Amino acid sequence: MELISRENPARITEIVGRVPVTGADGVDAAVRRADQARREWAARSIGDRIAALREAAQTVTGRVGELAELLARESGKPLADCRGEISFALTYLRWVCEHAPGVLAPAEIDDAAGRLVVRRAPYGVVACLTPWNAPVILAMVKLAPALAAGNAVVLKPSPLAPLAVGEVAAALPGVEVVHGGAPAGRALVTHPLVRKVAFTGGDAAGREIAAAAGAMLTPSVMELGGNDPALFLPDFALTDDDYERLVMASFATSGQVCMAAKRLYVPRARLAEFTEAYRAAAERVLVVGDPLAAGVTMGPVISAPAAERVRGLVAGSVARGGTAVPLGRAHGDLESGYFVTPTLVTGLGDDAPLVAEEQFGPAVPLLPYDTEDEALARANAGELGLAASVWSADEDRAFALAARLEAGFVFVNTHNRTGMSLRAPFGGVKRSGYGREYGEEGLLEYVQSAVAHAPAAFRGGGGGMSATAYPV
Ligand code: NAD
Repeated sequence: MELISRENPARITEIVGRVPVTGADGVDAAVRRADQARREWAARSIGDRIAALREAAQTVTGRVGELAELLARESGKPLADCRGEISFALTYLRWVCEHAPGVLAPAEIDDAAGRLVVRRAPYGVVACLTPWNAPVILAMVKLAPALAAGNAVVLKPSPLAPLAVGEVAAALPGVEVVHGGAPAGRALVTHPLVRKVAFTGGDAAGREIAAAAGAMLTPSVMELGGNDPALFLPDFALTDDDYERLVMASFATSGQVCMAAKRLYVPRARLAEFTEAYRAAAERVLVVGDPLAAGVTMGPVISAPAAERVRGLVAGSVARGGTAVPLGRAHGDLESGYFVTPTLVTGLGDDAPLVAEEQFGPAVPLLPYDTEDEALARANAGELGLAASVWSADEDRAFALAARLEAGFVFVNTHNRTGMSLRAPFGGVKRSGYGREYGEEGLLEYVQSAVAHAPAAFRGGGGGMSATAYPV
């Protein structure tokens, strides 16, 4: 049997765990099991399903410490972040348990038009394909609403972080897990018994998966990359704490977050002041080292190719006249893993690859601007539109600008996960994807409306309408 061995990206000689690669036959068997399971699962009342999900939440809660350590070792994310991610996933699961019964309740419209019931029907088998950067929460935002609604799920996590999420998924009812890379993903997406595809990941895989799902007429939800701008209005007023939060908005998870602050647009007149305060904040808050060591806030990147790619982006920036400013402090031996020095890059034009493309790593460009309209146009340039942020002492002014930004989610005076809300729909505009996670919309993503209707005219034998008339 072919196995995937996952090394610790902070200590690459250490194998954290192994999972078997699921071949096409295995994927087929998993989908068929899920298709059997979904019938019984959907036939249960939503109250029963919620009770089972709450029990699973309780089981996982008792294991947060152990799972956080596993996640830290396989992903390279600091232990506190891993604990935070799993706890947040459980908070979201409980949020779904609380809100799904209301949001998914059938609507009965009994009026002069007759009796009309709109049910929120599950799709059947949902295929979930997820990345490695936040494997537990990015799976949970799919699993929890899909299961609450009565679907069964086949989850294919990334082979770069399959272990902790595999354990969490095993605690949930109605979930099959398959492992592997693109071949396993393709077999899953193109399976004829899969009725919905939920994908989070990069642009290239997203396009291929959306096309494959489209060819099957299988609906999909796509959460893709972002190149999020952070826009500082001329009146921005940041405290030391704000600067620290801003630094972590770019460098948490070594910058490998879809909604990280990836381009910083700062008024030219305040550039020197901003740069100095930013560097000082990074010196205080950004500590690079082994994810299990106390006080470390940034670990390695996920793999050797990822480290090469980010170093290449920085070297290329310097080659075109930019200046690389190393940030933060190192803790311990950084030769043992895929560590990349966190870097602020100044002196680049918007056509530099570090600015124009999603860097997905610990290097961020600082870009001066002269007028607000110019900054807005530059922030809106490009094909991606996941998130953005506006920073201003005047909240109304920030909200007014937020409405002009081409992004699915605009944070005001913060950025990245500190600005998230369980209640708000999250997802991209333009080529950052379609469909939404979180909030009511995230619950409705996993149901289809199905209607039963008895027109008033024909109830109880009444003949109030001609045989060919249109109803009102
Ligand atoms: P990826 O696209 O390489 O992989 C994502 C998943 O799809 C993995 O499980 C992978 O094995 C699978 N896969 C890859 N190619 C496939 C194919 N052709 N057919 C079927 N399955 C395939 O992404 P990644 O490197 O794991 O994650 C990084 C990307 O994810 C970044 O672009 C990031 O911005 C994006 N992301 C988006 C969000 C969001 O919510 N919008 C959140 C996190 C990450």
